[in-house]
Amino acid sequence: MKKTINLLVSYFLYGGISRDEYKSIQHEIQESNRVTVQTTLSIVSALFAGLYVFSFFLPELSLHSHLYFMNGIVCVVITLCFSFSKNRQRNYTLLLCYLTMTVMFAYAAYLGIFLSPVTSATTFCLILVLAPILLIEKTWRIALYYVIVVAAFIWLVFQKKAYSLAFNDSVNVICVAVLGIMAHLYLFRTKVCEILLRKQLESERDLDQLTGCLTKKAFIAKLNRQYLTRHSSGVLILLDLDHFKVINDTYGHLFGDMVIRTMCECICQSVRSGDMVGRFGGDEFLIWLPGKWERSILENRLQALMKKLYTVETPDAIQKLEVSLGIALFPNHGTDYETLFDNADKALYAAKHRGRNRYVFYSDLSET
Ligand code: GH3
Ligand code: MG
Repeated sequence: MKKTINLLVSYFLYGGISRDEYKSIQHEIQESNRVTVQTTLSIVSALFAGLYVFSFFLPELSLHSHLYFMNGIVCVVITLCFSFSKNRQRNYTLLLCYLTMTVMFAYAAYLGIFLSPVTSATTFCLILVLAPILLIEKTWRIALYYVIVVAAFIWLVFQKKAYSLAFNDSVNVICVAVLGIMAHLYLFRTKVCEILLRKQLESERDLDQLTGCLTKKAFIAKLNRQYLTRHSSGVLILLDLDHFKVINDTYGHLFGDMVIRTMCECICQSVRSGDMVGRFGGDEFLIWLPGKWERSILENRLQALMKKLYTVETPDAIQKLEVSLGIALFPNHGTDYETLFDNADKALYAAKHRGRNRYVFYSDLSET
């Protein structure tokens, strides 16, 4: 019994997955809700616009023309709010989703209670079933929201409609609300499991098993997709550990793995949140620092990174981690990934050739 209750509670709270799993996909849930509700609102706005236009020609619709107009405007305003909220630090998606539902329920209640007091509130029932199908949201919150909405509807319907019709509407609305919540419970679970699975597959595909940073393929794809555009700029750094074979030969392959992991941690701690780190294979890493960089500031960052890596000790403290870096600037040293990488590689080769434990800019290669 206790097990069943716990299971039910976890379904109502997080769709049957754990709290941590739910938190890990929260961004994807918000994005999915934003796209779904924005698309629905666009369709609904078009519908109201159509009804408004037809209301000029059909006398049956002309009575409600002001309602269509108002609702169309409200839908457009909320759609715009969604677009504005997208890039804000605090995400207002959920608030806007509830606002959208409230507008729809208010419209349906007005239609079913005030404009058609002698017929059943069909639109209200329809929205009660449809709304939770669209939204990925904790079922307990939807249920709580429904209690408030249904209570308000029942109170209003008994004020405005004949007793028998009001009673009928109330029973219908309660039954449909329960059905809506049950449907939501099932769909919520299905959708969160699907998002979680997709995320797991993506991270297995895009993340390096040993270090957890991006794989070569994912790094290149993200760089091309997000950063190598006509109006952006950035720095590509190719980093290679010096004499790693010695570490492998002296302390073993497993220890070598640990060194690569530690090295990746150090690199990740040294970069900003918008920067990108990828493992190119073996002891080679790629770092992308977006934005325009003054040479002196960039050199300070590189020296800080090399110093941080140098403090990593091997068991007998004889081997310190020294790295060589090749640097190419976008767009000055290449306007596409291949050229940029090629030039960073040339700079890295020069760094190795000049005695290792140093950084070389591609622009400095002509110097000997
Ligand atoms: P250099 O200073 O010129 O960079 O020489 P290096 O000794 O560091 O050798 P290099 O960078 O050319 O080769 C890297 C070595 O890393 C070769 C390979 O044995 C080893 N290696 C590649 N992948 C792994 C891995 O996943 N784990 C471990 N432990 N070693 C790896
Ligand atoms: Mg190396």
